Parts: sequence; C-alpha cells; structure tokens
Amino acid sequence: MLSPLLPLTEEQREIQRVAREFARSELAPHVAEWDREAKFDRSIVGKLGALGFLGMLIPEAYDGLGLDTATYLLALEEVAAVDASTAVLMSVHNSLPTQMLLQFGDDAQRERWLKPMARGELLGAFALSEPEAGSDAASLQCQAVRDGDDWVLNGTKSWISHGAHADVILVMARTDRPGARHGSKGITAFVVTPDLAGLKVGKKENKLGLRGSETVQLVFDDLRVPPANVLGEVGRGFIYAMQSLDNGRLGIASQAVGIARAALDASVAYADDRRQFQQPIKSFQAIQFKLADMAVRVNAARALLHASAAMKDRGEPITAYGSMSKLLASETAMWVTTQAVQVFGGYGYVKEYPVERYFRDAKVTEIYEGTSEIQRIVIARELYEGR
Ligand SMILES: Cc1cc2nc3c(=O)[nH]c(=O)nc-3n(C[C@H](O)[C@H](O)[C@H](O)COP(=O)(O)OP(=O)(O)OC[C@H]3O[C@@H](n4cnc5c(N)ncnc54)[C@H](O)[C@@H]3O)c2cc1C
Repeated sequence: MLSPLLPLTEEQREIQRVAREFARSELAPHVAEWDREAKFDRSIVGKLGALGFLGMLIPEAYDGLGLDTATYLLALEEVAAVDASTAVLMSVHNSLPTQMLLQFGDDAQRERWLKPMARGELLGAFALSEPEAGSDAASLQCQAVRDGDDWVLNGTKSWISHGAHADVILVMARTDRPGARHGSKGITAFVVTPDLAGLKVGKKENKLGLRGSETVQLVFDDLRVPPANVLGEVGRGFIYAMQSLDNGRLGIASQAVGIARAALDASVAYADDRRQFQQPIKSFQAIQFKLADMAVRVNAARALLHASAAMKDRGEPITAYGSMSKLLASETAMWVTTQAVQVFGGYGYVKEYPVERYFRDAKVTEIYEGTSEIQRIVIARELYEGR
C-alpha cells in the first residue's frame, strides 16, 4: 500500500473520511441498480446537501462551507470512486450554476437562489449545449427576445445533466439579433426555474455509462423570463459560462481520478485473489507492470489536478492547467479502466464485478465539459499566449 502523495490537513482528512463513509453507506448499496435501471434517485440531493457537499465552494456568508478547491476535489474523488453519476451532479452543481450566481449574480439573486442551493435545498443545472452546438458552443441558437421588461426564450438545450430535476437552471441564450448564426458576444445567461410556463422536458438519453445521472433535452416554448432572472450583463453570458467551465473541468478531472482509482484498487485486490497456473495472477510480471503503470497514471493525474487547484485558490489563471488536468485525468481514467478489464479477464467483461461500469463511466469524462480534442486546442492556444 502506497502512502498518499498529497499532504492533507486535519480538516481535509476529516472531509475525505466523511465523503468516503457517505459513498460507502449511501451510494455503494444502490449503484449497480441505478446503473442497470438508469435510475436517478432524487433523495441523494438532500443527503449531499445535509453534509454541505452542495455548497462546498460557496462562502459561509451564503450558507456554504467556504472550503478551498483541493478539499472539495478530495470529497468529489471519494464520491466518484463509488458512483460517477452522483459525482457529476456534485461537480456540475458546485462548479457551474452556483459559481455563476456567486461571481456574476446580484445580491437578490444570491439571496433567492444561491443560498438555498448552497444548503442543498435547490439543485442547479447548466444548459449551454444544443443539438447543433456542442464543441462550437458559441454557435448556439436558443433565442431570447425582449418583450416589454421580460425576455421570451425559444429553443432546445441538449444533454442537460439532471435537467428534469433541477430547481435552478443557468441557460445561455442568444440575445443579439434573431437569426444571427454565430458569435459569443450576443449571448446572455438566464436563471430559468421550473415554475416558469413554457419549460418542457424533452428526450431522456439512453446512455452507455453514467446511467444513474439523468441526461435530458430541455425545450423552451415561449418561456417568459422576468428581468430579475437575467444574470449579470446582457451579452456576457458566454464569457461567464466559459469562466465557470475552467472550474468545472477541475471537478470532472477529480471525477475521472476517482473512477481510475476505483479501477486500480479493484484490480490490485483481484490480482491477489485470482489464481491461474497454481499462483495468484499478481505474481505474473505482465500483471504487475499493468498495476504499476495504472498507479503511476492515477497519481500523476491527481498531482497535476491538485497543483491546478492550488493555482486557482491563489487566484492565478487556470485555463491551461484546468484543461491539462481534465485531459490527463480523463485519458487516465479511460486507459486505467481498460487495463482493469484486462486484469479481470472474462470477469471484467460481465456485470458481476464493477470494472465494466468503471470502463463505461470513464468514457464520458473525455467528452463533456469540452472533449479531449477541445482541451488540446485550449492548451496549444495557451502555449502561444503572450509570446
Ligand atoms: C452525459 C453527458 C452529460 C452532459 N451534460 C451537459 C450539461 O449538463 N450541460 C451542457 O450544456 N452540456 C452537457 N453535455 C454536452 C457536452 O458538453 C457535449 O457533448 C460536448 O461539449 C461535445 O459536444 P457534441 O457532443 O456536440 O460533439 P461535437 O462538438 O459534435 O464533436 C464531435 C467530435 O468532433 C470533435 N471536434 C469538434 N470540434 C473540433 C475541432 N475544432 N477540432 C478538433 N476536433 C473537433 C470533438 O472533439 C468530437 O470528437 C453533456 C454530454 C454528455 C454526453
């Protein structure tokens, strides 16, 4: 057993312990069923909220825990190591809608939505992607048109994590001239709540992995939004969303590290138990090398992630390192879970053991909040910044 690479404070150790205990008692008994049935259990939101895990990065003045990013990521890794679906809920809520309200909302919006979100009473979602606007998010076509003081929204958002269950949805919509085909400048962020008439839940996706997280389309049909629900300045919503995604990528990286770690731990245990040729398979060098490479990559991914988290907490820009962290962690998760299936042999290919689920869950970390290709574009662009 290796000693942990990161020096943890007493508080971090305690939060890690609480998260691990929560994951083992509240998630582990149900995770296989949620995966099999593609079932989202709303009661998890209240349980996460009771622990303060839905307001980890929100200052105490707004009813959050006011923790640093590293501590939040440690808790997220523990949750992800047991259930990647609950981890994505925790990541989206903590880094996207709550951070947008904290950074760009006014006092009334923080009072009305951020505080109950930090207490875990309201669940937040983030709606940027559309059927025709994924990696090229600035080409989104969801349109908001002013009508008196209100805005009227029409369009469709795709792939919205827990969108059918969210109480507060941060929606990016075009507010420049109707029919504009492209451009980040004419996009505004709106707070959409389910009580507003004209919000419909569309198709529920039938996914390869992350099946305990419900992913839906949201359809806006003459959805009337009052001026109090406009976040920050009209026309700056795309910038707000991109800044929040810099943080969000750290959360997804932590989710990926958690999945990879779980696959490594399961493989270490299995290689000890499984015997072939009258010996445990851990005695074969081919298996030892796999386990060693898996451990190297998990630790490297976590180390880069936590160095990036420390940069963020020092107030330094993390666009490049956030992308690097997400890229390394998600590709690590995919590679490590593939090795884990191999270590398990045929037993890795069936649902009796969790490694096939880790393998399916890992894939999405290379796709959402910017695909691996988009992360490479961001990193390469940053290499030329200021030259
Ligand atoms: C389970 C799940 C949950 C999600 N949750 C949310 C959510 O809560 N909110 C939200 O707004 N969105 C969410 N998304 C959407 C997600 O962010 C997008 O799927 C992602 O950004 C990719 O967009 P796309 O699927 O349209 O792929 P596309 O953009 O069509 O990409 C297809 C392929 O082309 C590549 N590609 C695209 N452009 C380039 C380029 N310039 N150079 C090189 N390669 C390129 C991509 O990397 C990819 O390999 C979720 C997605 C999934 C699968």
